[in-house]
Amino acid sequence: MGKGWRDYGWQIRNRIKTLSELKRFLKLTPEEEEGIRLTKGLYPMAITPYYLSLIDPDDPQDPIRLQAVPRKVEVDEKIQSHGEPDALKEEGSIYGLTHRYPDRVLIRLTTFCAVYCRHCMRKRIFANGEKTLTYKQIDEIVDYIRKHEEVRDILISGGEPLSVGLEKLEYLLKKLREIKHVEIIRFGTRLPVLAPQRFFDDKLLDLLERYSPIWINTHFNHPKEVTELAEEAVDRLLKRGIPVNNQTVLLKGVNDDPQTMLELFRKLLKIKVKPQYLFHCDPIKGAIHFRTSLDKGFEIMRFLRGKISGMGIPTYAVDLPGGKGKVPLLPNYVKERRGNTFTFEAFDGTEVEYTIEEF
Ligand SMILES: *Cc1c(COP(=O)(O)O)cnc(C)c1O
Repeated sequence: MGKGWRDYGWQIRNRIKTLSELKRFLKLTPEEEEGIRLTKGLYPMAITPYYLSLIDPDDPQDPIRLQAVPRKVEVDEKIQSHGEPDALKEEGSIYGLTHRYPDRVLIRLTTFCAVYCRHCMRKRIFANGEKTLTYKQIDEIVDYIRKHEEVRDILISGGEPLSVGLEKLEYLLKKLREIKHVEIIRFGTRLPVLAPQRFFDDKLLDLLERYSPIWINTHFNHPKEVTELAEEAVDRLLKRGIPVNNQTVLLKGVNDDPQTMLELFRKLLKIKVKPQYLFHCDPIKGAIHFRTSLDKGFEIMRFLRGKISGMGIPTYAVDLPGGKGKVPLLPNYVKERRGNTFTFEAFDGTEVEYTIEEF
């Protein structure tokens, strides 16, 4: 580990962005070499040295590698002809803002990311370069929120919102906190996974603490990502009173395996991160090869029951097309129903008949 390893700025400055750089660290497959060439300008590559260090160089199917290194499949005709760039209809009339549920809004603060995840649901933004909302664009969004008194919860995402300079971040947080009906602010950030060094900066932590209540939604997908540095990042957030919840995406080849998911959620509980959602992979153009069947998700959810605390079991959800929002999904544990007499499937697979009536 060179000097600078614990420094976020160093991690960002030294991101691997070209084929020749990556070749120094990994023996690339033809599929990857071609992938890096063909995705250039459309779905570019960027990998922090830290995230790269988690890759087993001898395993072309390494789960970190599949998330970070472009492959030709992303631009294959079959993949490109399926899905949509903005399958969830996030883009609306105000740039950077999505208001879907009455009580919550999503702000996309920047298109910059530490690592360009190959499965990203916002892959459409990669080609536009690294752009952050201007102060004027932030003002427009804040005006909208001020006028909509039903909005209580602000989700700030990106790109990578916590990559934005502290001055601009504070400008946004201060304006949001001046609005009486805004109750909580959340950051959707993958930095605990991609560059946990971001949270070794006391100035950032001071800022987040000052605008409490702030929550973090992060994105661990595989047990290999739960490292000592990630744990340290989470720990620093928790010490400042900032809860950290996780949103995993079910990805073919990466984590579509019950035992892997169990291990991931156990490791997250150990570092005090609550698995909040397990998302079914969205039909995003250029990323649809990561999609599994819905049955795979049900199989995983069924497997988890009885093997880990209920705290460690996320809500499995699918996002509906056309911007119709998230739907929670559960395997069916009610085998039969006659009036108020139900036959349930217990955690160990046995069937239990139980009559439940209102008292
Ligand atoms: C997911 C999402 C939210 C937040 O939903 P929660 O279930 O509260 O996490 C808010 N707005 C949009 C547009 C979303 O996609």
